[in-house]
Amino acid sequence: MMNGSLTVGSMLERAERFFPKKEVVSRTLSGIHRLTYKEIGSRTRRLASALEKLGVGRGDRVGTFAWNHHRHLEVYFAAPGMGAVLHTINIRLSAEHIAYIINHAEDKVLLVDEDLLPLIERVRDQIPTVEAFIVMTDRDELPETTLEPVYSYEKLLAEGEPQFEFVKDLDENEPAGMCYTSATTGNPKGVVYSHRGIVLHSFAFGLADTAALSEYDVCMPVVPMFHANAWGLPFTATWFGSTQVLPGPQFTPKLLAELIETEKVTLTAGVPTIWLAMLNELESGSYDTSSLRAVICGGSAAPRGMIKSFETKFGIPFLHAYGMTETAPLATISRLKSYQRDLDVEDMLDIRSKQGILAPGLEMRVIGANGEVAWDGVEMGELLLRGPWIADEYYKDERSSEAFKDGWLYTGDVATVDEEGTIKLVDRTKDLIKSGGEWISSVDLENALMSHESVFEASVIAVPHSEWQERPVACVVLAPAYQDKVSKEDLMEFLKPQFAKWWLPDDIIFMEEIPKTSVGKFLKRALRDQLKDHLVS
Ligand code: ADP
Repeated sequence: MMNGSLTVGSMLERAERFFPKKEVVSRTLSGIHRLTYKEIGSRTRRLASALEKLGVGRGDRVGTFAWNHHRHLEVYFAAPGMGAVLHTINIRLSAEHIAYIINHAEDKVLLVDEDLLPLIERVRDQIPTVEAFIVMTDRDELPETTLEPVYSYEKLLAEGEPQFEFVKDLDENEPAGMCYTSATTGNPKGVVYSHRGIVLHSFAFGLADTAALSEYDVCMPVVPMFHANAWGLPFTATWFGSTQVLPGPQFTPKLLAELIETEKVTLTAGVPTIWLAMLNELESGSYDTSSLRAVICGGSAAPRGMIKSFETKFGIPFLHAYGMTETAPLATISRLKSYQRDLDVEDMLDIRSKQGILAPGLEMRVIGANGEVAWDGVEMGELLLRGPWIADEYYKDERSSEAFKDGWLYTGDVATVDEEGTIKLVDRTKDLIKSGGEWISSVDLENALMSHESVFEASVIAVPHSEWQERPVACVVLAPAYQDKVSKEDLMEFLKPQFAKWWLPDDIIFMEEIPKTSVGKFLKRALRDQLKDHLVS
């Protein structure tokens, strides 16, 4: 058969050709913009020609420091289309890490949102590889900034070439994008995505048995475009000609709910903390969310109670998925098999709150103390993955050998597999609670706590213990209506029938807020530091 190259540029070309009338709805500081794929196409080509004039060539890294909006989408295609590499930078990292990854990736040009300029100005002296800054602003005039040389995005586009041709002789294995993932200790680690990996990942996202993304969808990625390429959705949605809704800077649950209603969003995606906050909003307001056919929830375990509330109270179907920056990110997705649809509601929820089965095209192994684990839903082991959209190393990083061995990615996630092949993540290796030689899953305890009506958020961590080595301690945020009305004894009584005695937390601590990572996950490291002496007598 023919061996055509799978390239990111050709994904946009398809949208320009077959879906020129379909729209990208984008929210920026000045309001809502509506652009067709025809317009997005010619603006992207103008941008690519402008980047070329600024000296960007094949393989050069083009950094973005931006929210989810149409200009960011244009860079998503302009950089790979011209043979350069899109490097999305997490705007919530510390100044030190931002400077580290810009230097490590050796970004040549940086495209920055107007409201995020101060964060880059602060590190300007430490990022010598950057030769030009482009400000993504709606205004004609450039905002005041100490960055230089600095250009206005729209001015560059006005002078750009709308017919600019994307590179034709690209090898599909060339890099198209890169993204850094947070490390527990030390600096972030870079993952490079090939053109081939991005295209094949997009195929996978469109399958009826995964997310079934299609031209019929109105797709709103809430997950940031700097977090594993917004889970690949901007690439996939453009390729398929789906309508896209990009919610822009500093959005609130209210704004998201309004966008779902007014734009008739059919599919959206984000981490559980976003959906927990959204649940509160839906409970207090009145919104029409009937257009939604799927809320993809990943990045951390989707609490069973949350899935149940969305589905039973609001009829909003959840799709629980699992992946990592290293896996582009879709690895597993949880859907009922045809013969599981007659189970009772609670049994179906049990299945759907697991992480699901492997996406077609990938391979997995789960390795426990005695080799590959039995598929019995009990034996735990580390999940290993391989496949065409799984990274095979960290970019120029000596730590690669810790995660990539014998052609497999060692995910650092501990899982069980049941007889259906359904994966259940028990914990990250570093979050497992090792109590007297036995393992306790913090995720199971969190899920149970979050299914109590009074609990808004719960995070369970391992705390050092003189006798048992580690013991679980639960940190709980109560929903506003239950403040001071629920005691730790109440919650302990609630847990007792659900777990063996030795699994029960040694303490439950009420907090106002659980610290979060830069992408909205519970920051267990901070809790562990804070509570490291809590059980020492
Ligand atoms: P970071 O390491 O910065 O959080 P990633 O987004 O790449 O960046 O995190 C990937 C990790 O997130 C996985 O290794 C896993 O531990 C966790 N994760 C992702 N999806 C899920 C899920 N559905 N359930 C439980 N954990 C998940």
